[in-house]
Amino acid sequence: MESKDKSRLSIRVRGAVQGVGFRPFIYRLAERHHLTGWIVNNSGGVHIEAQGMPADLDAFLRAIREEAPPHAVIRSVRRTRREPSDDGTFRILQSDGRGAPTAWILPDIATCPDCLREIFDPADRRHLYPFTNCTYCGPRFTILERIPYDRPNTSMKAFRMCAACEREYNDPRDRRFHAQPNACPDCGPQLEYRDRDGRILSSRRDAMDRAAEAILGGKIVTVKGLGGFHLIADAADRDAVRALRERKNREEKPLALMVPDLDAAETLCDLSEEERRWLAAPEAPIVLADKKPDAAVAPEIAPDNPFLGIMLPYTPLHHILLAALGRPVVATSGNRSDEPICIDNGEALARLRGVADAFLVHDRPILRPVDDSVGRIVAGERTLLRRSRGYAPLPISVGWKGEPALAVGGQLKNTVALAYGDRIQPGQHIGDLDSEPARDHFIRIVRDLQAFTEVRPGTVLHDLNPDYASTQEASRMEGRRIPVQHHLAHVAACMAEHGLEPPVLGVAWDGAGYGTDGTVWGGEFLTVRDGGWERTAAFRPFPLAGGDRAAREPRRSALGVLWGLFGDKWTEPDCPAVWRAFSDAERTGLLQIMQKPSLAPPASSAGRLFDAVAAMTGTMLFNRFEGQAAMRLEHLAGKAEAIPPAYPFHIRDGKAETSRVDWGPMILEILAGIRDGAEPAYISARFHETLARIIEETAVRIGIRRVVLSGGCFQNKRLTERAAERLTASGFQAYFHRSVPPNDGGISVGQLAALKYGLVRPEP
Ligand code: ZN
Ligand code: ZN
Ligand code: FE
Repeated sequence: MESKDKSRLSIRVRGAVQGVGFRPFIYRLAERHHLTGWIVNNSGGVHIEAQGMPADLDAFLRAIREEAPPHAVIRSVRRTRREPSDDGTFRILQSDGRGAPTAWILPDIATCPDCLREIFDPADRRHLYPFTNCTYCGPRFTILERIPYDRPNTSMKAFRMCAACEREYNDPRDRRFHAQPNACPDCGPQLEYRDRDGRILSSRRDAMDRAAEAILGGKIVTVKGLGGFHLIADAADRDAVRALRERKNREEKPLALMVPDLDAAETLCDLSEEERRWLAAPEAPIVLADKKPDAAVAPEIAPDNPFLGIMLPYTPLHHILLAALGRPVVATSGNRSDEPICIDNGEALARLRGVADAFLVHDRPILRPVDDSVGRIVAGERTLLRRSRGYAPLPISVGWKGEPALAVGGQLKNTVALAYGDRIQPGQHIGDLDSEPARDHFIRIVRDLQAFTEVRPGTVLHDLNPDYASTQEASRMEGRRIPVQHHLAHVAACMAEHGLEPPVLGVAWDGAGYGTDGTVWGGEFLTVRDGGWERTAAFRPFPLAGGDRAAREPRRSALGVLWGLFGDKWTEPDCPAVWRAFSDAERTGLLQIMQKPSLAPPASSAGRLFDAVAAMTGTMLFNRFEGQAAMRLEHLAGKAEAIPPAYPFHIRDGKAETSRVDWGPMILEILAGIRDGAEPAYISARFHETLARIIEETAVRIGIRRVVLSGGCFQNKRLTERAAERLTASGFQAYFHRSVPPNDGGISVGQLAALKYGLVRPEP
């Protein structure tokens, strides 16, 4: 064929196209269409030059999008014409490492079916090798030093590939072609088993056997995994689980489980089809599912909790360990309560001394901590409650325009996010910033995010609350600072996730957030219009005696609500459960400070209203972890049969001011129901239904068609589903969170989104 009949194209593909087998895919595609030329990874994605007959080039271009490898995300394909030249073949060239780093960084991907087959095949050279991976699975974000994603830029650089691995790595037809962490028992990382004092007891396969033996014998073993260390114990062994709680200093907060496979998951939980699929997905998150009454796990795993958080093994190491154990284990982050997860061997040995009985570690460094993600199926679809391993640092698909900016998030469930190029890129879960180690951890992650993206943001966004550790850290950072109201950030996050433009009605319900008037907000209806927003409606406020302490004591929320209704005329028969929840001295003392905003700050919080109802019905007077009472109420509501009628409520039109949703009529009916002996389950179901109707009724009054539901309260499946159903029935479009958490883990994305929508301005 004459080369003058041929054309040549320069093609630039952007998106998540590195570390997903994209170059061998293009290589095979070029062969199939008889093309010559080359492909190279660069820091923007991949660059291809391809030459061949025009019809073949067209087919090639189509196939790039249609047949892309499973984990590739293609954002754009741009092509320009070139003069034909003589290549002879199609080749894969060395990365050039030039240009701005705009390539997407991939998250870590759970073991693929092919690798799984190999590790359990006694004839395979990777039989029971815990660090097996290929182009379609394995570590990415946790081993990446800098981009582009090539072996010398990863924590695998210290391991020299053996001849057999090298052959795979260099063969474009092999599944391990350019699999950067490629390794085998001859050349890759190895396991070590150490005692509680760090002494090496055994290595390699024997180390795995010893660890399994210890766990089966009731010991707690620290296991180094992908993005950090887990503490692992037999989930059915009450003594082991109790010891774990005691040593970790964790009272009642549920512990996550890892199970050998889907069948094992099925013995613990009632799983929907979508829950099964999500558990087995390459992201392999912890999925919250309904616990079976006869689940064979220690009750201490999740005391009085209707849900279990379960996950499947997601690295060969976990697969091999769980296969050896053949039973569910607790797999909770390797830390002491509320501290960040450990990633370094020495750090783990020092910090987890006294918590673990032994250590199963390895010599592949973890470059950054990445906790397990947590999700829940809401309205039939996946909703992330913690976006971390398997997701971070993939960008949220929104068109960012403008200068790079950093958002530092909130105080609880903190995340930070960076906006640059065309994207908003959230970082991994950091956690509550209450402790000193957590703050250090926050600072390290902020630095890390900027270092590997090579982005220097000129703008720092933070919460309005001056007491948040993230706000205080922001004040020490360079660049102009912009405060963002907490609930506005919640609403903007949900808008950005769904690509919505104003006008939008935002329903932002959570425990607490700092309002523009300095009071505690948390049951907000915000109207977002072009370039501005206002607080159109909110719950009637009630005083929270002791401020932050109320979040831990639902009885205090109930006291505030009762005081709001009855003032000084409150007596025991009105609500015996709450009356008796305090000593006479306590109650008298607390009622005396109700009119002092400094001691009992008024709050319009929906989360605290949940707490109040939980206390009044005697369901829960004290929270052992954030949101526990609300979770219990949600569960109780699920026990009621049909959907009951709503309680009465009243919306006071504020005219030019904020309208107030008055919970008074509802609470009076609830108290009457309690006196008449109504079941807490029935009361809770009616309470949920009332909240859904309040959202519907407020939306009707405001009249904006698109309604977003955000804030921690919308982790509640029943509330979210009923509110969405009522809104849809009245002709509204309801949006809630999917890939950005509805809780404060979504605040950083929301802060950036608020800037993108022009809803906030720099401080003068
Ligand atoms: Zn694989
Ligand atoms: Zn090898
Ligand atoms: Fe919040």
